[in-house]
Amino acid sequence: MGLQVGERLLEQSLSTMRRCGGGRRECVLFWAARASDTSRVILVEHPAHTATRDGYSVDGNWLTQLWERMATDDTRVVAQVHTHPGVAFHSRTDDAFPALSTPGFVSVVIPRYATEDLDLGSWFVAELQEDGNWQSQPPLIVIT
Ligand SMILES: [Zn+2]
Repeated sequence: MGLQVGERLLEQSLSTMRRCGGGRRECVLFWAARASDTSRVILVEHPAHTATRDGYSVDGNWLTQLWERMATDDTRVVAQVHTHPGVAFHSRTDDAFPALSTPGFVSVVIPRYATEDLDLGSWFVAELQEDGNWQSQPPLIVIT
């Protein structure tokens, strides 16, 4: 179905990941939308997480608090966004362990620790299907 994401929000995502990863470590973000309109990203969440040069782990307590908050403020995580050291693709871990395993959930991978200018063509974007497979049918992200 795809996600509408404002350019400012994309730039905010990139700068957060650059600052956090310092060009040496991965970083992860969540994009959130209103429950009533899950096709439009309105918020970037930068979780408490650890990271290495080729992996990351989100703090479990932080996630629990996020789910609790979202249950009351009527927002939903619609995508996870993370960086890779090299090219953007979905690793086996990325396939198997998304933050949410709801069909329609979108996973975005940004190459080279997000150090490059905004270029959707170099990103990997995939959507979780009903059958559990990921499909990257462009354009899943529409810049608004
Ligand atoms: Zn980070």
